[in-house]
Amino acid sequence: MSQISASLPLLGFAAFSGTGKTTLLEAMLPKLVERGIRIAVIKHAHHNFDIDQEGKDSYRLRKAGASQMLISSRYRRALVTETPEEEANLPHLIAQLDQTALDLILVEGFKKLDFPKIELHREEVGKPWLHPDDSNIIAVAANIPANTHLPQMDINNLDQITDFVVDFAQGKLEKPSLDCSDLTNSDMLSVDEGRAKILDQITTIARTETVSLEKALGQIVAQDVLSPVNVPQHTNSAMDGYAIRGEDSEQAAFTVVGQVMAGHSYDKPLEAGQAVRIMTGAPVPLGADTVIMREQAEQTDNIVRFDIAQFGIKKGQNVRQAGEDLALGQVAIAAGSTITAPELGMIASLGLDTVTITQPLKVAIFSTGDEVQQPGEEQKENCIYDSNRFTLRAMLSKVGCEVIDFGIIEDNEASLQKTLTAASEQADMILSSGGVSVGDADYIKTVLDALGQINFWRINMRPGRPLAFGQIQDTPFFGLPGNPVAVMVAFLQFVEPALRKMQGCDWQATCYTAIATEKLRSRPGRTEYTRGIYQLDANGRLTVQSTGQQGSGILRSMSEANCLIEILPEQPNAEIGDKVRVIPLTGRI
Ligand code: AMP
Ligand code: MG
Repeated sequence: MSQISASLPLLGFAAFSGTGKTTLLEAMLPKLVERGIRIAVIKHAHHNFDIDQEGKDSYRLRKAGASQMLISSRYRRALVTETPEEEANLPHLIAQLDQTALDLILVEGFKKLDFPKIELHREEVGKPWLHPDDSNIIAVAANIPANTHLPQMDINNLDQITDFVVDFAQGKLEKPSLDCSDLTNSDMLSVDEGRAKILDQITTIARTETVSLEKALGQIVAQDVLSPVNVPQHTNSAMDGYAIRGEDSEQAAFTVVGQVMAGHSYDKPLEAGQAVRIMTGAPVPLGADTVIMREQAEQTDNIVRFDIAQFGIKKGQNVRQAGEDLALGQVAIAAGSTITAPELGMIASLGLDTVTITQPLKVAIFSTGDEVQQPGEEQKENCIYDSNRFTLRAMLSKVGCEVIDFGIIEDNEASLQKTLTAASEQADMILSSGGVSVGDADYIKTVLDALGQINFWRINMRPGRPLAFGQIQDTPFFGLPGNPVAVMVAFLQFVEPALRKMQGCDWQATCYTAIATEKLRSRPGRTEYTRGIYQLDANGRLTVQSTGQQGSGILRSMSEANCLIEILPEQPNAEIGDKVRVIPLTGRI
């Protein structure tokens, strides 16, 4: 089982009942508070506890069916969540806490789970020691000596135990077996930190261009598109039927005085008791404001009767008002919107055949690595075909960018320098893949350092950990990892948001919450992007499973996926039934 961790120190007390866990905690908490430590306690109860008092409003509303009851006052708030199916697991409970307002999480109970604990032991309780069978125990507090190399304390010496807990909270103890390397490594950035640092250095590019609608798909609208006309142009019928004056609707029969087809008009004003046969989309005659469906009418010669008894007639029904979709001068499409099928249709519906867009960003791409070979050539010994330039090209086109392809760059300083210089002159952004891992050929670092300001980051994520980012002669440069899946994930998490900002879009990736239908592994302390398939189950719940094998070189995992499952650093593994965040890939890859 993997360690449960939080971004804060997490410490439990393991003991058999009767040892006095709660009494000890109650006595220790004031001492910890006095020493400036902000504490949360998570307590496990074996029985069906109820926290609310019978008769209180919150109790009544919860019993009446609120599955989550959140009550708040000036002094405190409480969330009572009913979990009739099964108990929430500890990582989920930890995630409920506001960790920004805490220094330490103490846990009472959950003694079988893997996280650091102090064992409490009293001889008179007559129970066995726990530490011989639990490697998570980091110290023992007892009233008799224990046979262990672990630190030992006197269970009746509150100050001694408090000192130990304070040291633990302040990270002064030797780390327990928990693998915290990722949590403590200071040159590691979280995904959010990395993205924020990148976006900080990105500025919007304001070049615009007016293009024909044929060239506008996927581009960004640069100026609000205003409607030069009313849409629809005239008040018209939404149905095939009969147009009448609303005030005549009580009448038993109408005289049909004419017929109007779409694209034509009936030019005389309608008089009392008259009806005009009308087709969908045809302009409603002057004076008419109501249309009755053909199915509710019975016409004999030029007399029509409506089935008022069954359907009734509402003045104004089945009529679309002029300018109802868009009034003259109204913003039809706001600047910053991406042009997809409906936007193209809308622009065309206004009678416009051009649109002003943000000039497509030019993005230079190249691959590095002597082992990387152009597809179509005969495969050489120990070589792999370049896939990264192809996935990058495709993802760039989804963001409306133009690609300048510099191909595969030989592993030497001169070619790299030449490529980067040319790319920075021609492109708005440069993307390379491969060669940024720690320990990779040093010349890349040397060249990048000579040409610009580049940071080499290790991002706390998998896949996609190494990432270089900076500017080469003012052109943003991303040194993406080499592994094909890592390239795609890093593009989605870092490059696409940067491109969207350059384009002036107010963009955020869509994400949903789905229920895991299989155990999803993740190492605590880093964000894990598992390729997944999400879908609605028979009960209409959004569920997600992985695509299977997850190696960062396995592009098939990406091809079978319709989402990335994002498991955050404080969530170790997602168990079946846990809620996880999914980032749909539709439209992005
Ligand atoms: P690197 O980051 O250069 O150490 O590369 C990591 C892994 O990705 C290695 O197995 C490389 O062979 C592979 N790789 C690097 N560039 C590409 C590429 N353009 N296409 C496919 N695989 C690549
Ligand atoms: Mg390489």
